[in-house]
Amino acid sequence: MRIKKILGRTVLAAFGLYVLWLGWQIARFKRYESPISTTAQAALPVPPLYEFSGVYHIHSRYSDGWKTVDKIAETAAGAGLDFIILADHGKPNYATLDAQGWNHGLLVLAGSELSTNRGHLVALGFDRPKDSTAFSRDAEVAVREIAALGGFAIIAHPYSKVRWSWGDLFEYAGIEIIDADTMLKRHPVRTLSYLPALLIKPGFALLKMIDPPEQALRKWDQLLSRRPALGFFSADAHLLYGAIFPVFHLHVLLDKPRSADFETARRQVFDALRRGSFYSAVDAAADARGFRFWLEAGSLRAIAPFSFAHEIVIIHDGKMIHQTRDNEVTLPLSGPGVYRAEVYLRERTPLAPGVPWILSNPIYFGRENR
Ligand SMILES: [Zn+2]
Ligand SMILES: [Zn+2]
Repeated sequence: MRIKKILGRTVLAAFGLYVLWLGWQIARFKRYESPISTTAQAALPVPPLYEFSGVYHIHSRYSDGWKTVDKIAETAAGAGLDFIILADHGKPNYATLDAQGWNHGLLVLAGSELSTNRGHLVALGFDRPKDSTAFSRDAEVAVREIAALGGFAIIAHPYSKVRWSWGDLFEYAGIEIIDADTMLKRHPVRTLSYLPALLIKPGFALLKMIDPPEQALRKWDQLLSRRPALGFFSADAHLLYGAIFPVFHLHVLLDKPRSADFETARRQVFDALRRGSFYSAVDAAADARGFRFWLEAGSLRAIAPFSFAHEIVIIHDGKMIHQTRDNEVTLPLSGPGVYRAEVYLRERTPLAPGVPWILSNPIYFGRENR
């Protein structure tokens, strides 16, 4: 009887501590808002660009997603997004392609996620096939079929869920560096301990679950040593759209304002993605608008105009060459190769230390150029 009582009290005390611990963590979390207004952004010493943010890799009811395109667009518009990119399973998925257009004031774009012999491949920006074409199951063949229709292909979640089996040929436009879908499934204990937070502050809970993408970053640098490749943060959203949409954004940079004509706007976004004129960010941790990384008069320039503590890291051919807590970097090029930038949050952040808050796309100098 006594033991039972002690046991009961211990369990109760442990539960009380857990509630306090979780409550403290939730209460402490605050997303960093961008300190600069749009007008101040226009005055930054960077090439004038128009910035639009959106979420890439979303499943709707046209494959294994839980909501209709219309509902998803409504949720995305509510989250303040400028565009979304659907990637329903198919080869391609004609129903999602036909669902593209303006919806709730939002640019709804679509590609398709193909199941190939090597893994999952997301095809984007291709013209709708005239006949009822099916892309090949052979990844190397499919990537050429997609290119023949003016599109490009991205390797989806190469190190999780359906893993990618790497071949010698790499004709893909890029790879996903982080994807949201597998975060919840990979660490059941961590997921379970933050599960109540998912109901109270879903953005916070998801941020706590992001793994440092070491393996994907290493592979990316290895690929970059041989040919151009882009890096993407991917939502791979099937459900919980409202919780996932604020987390991973692609910030697309256009040199002209976005067109009001759907076909033109679609081209603008897909062309910018294909060129690598975008960066990925964990926007639920902090508003990343205003980041820039470019080449100017023989120097690498980066600007991270944020008032909260952050650190810019510059990587040359897979090796870190510069690290600063300043808001700006001007770095004379130290030789030919591939340069890219990462930005980390450095105080009061739910992100694990190895999780980049911002990931730039590479700048190629002297060797390969697209
Ligand atoms: Zn997939
Ligand atoms: Zn997917």
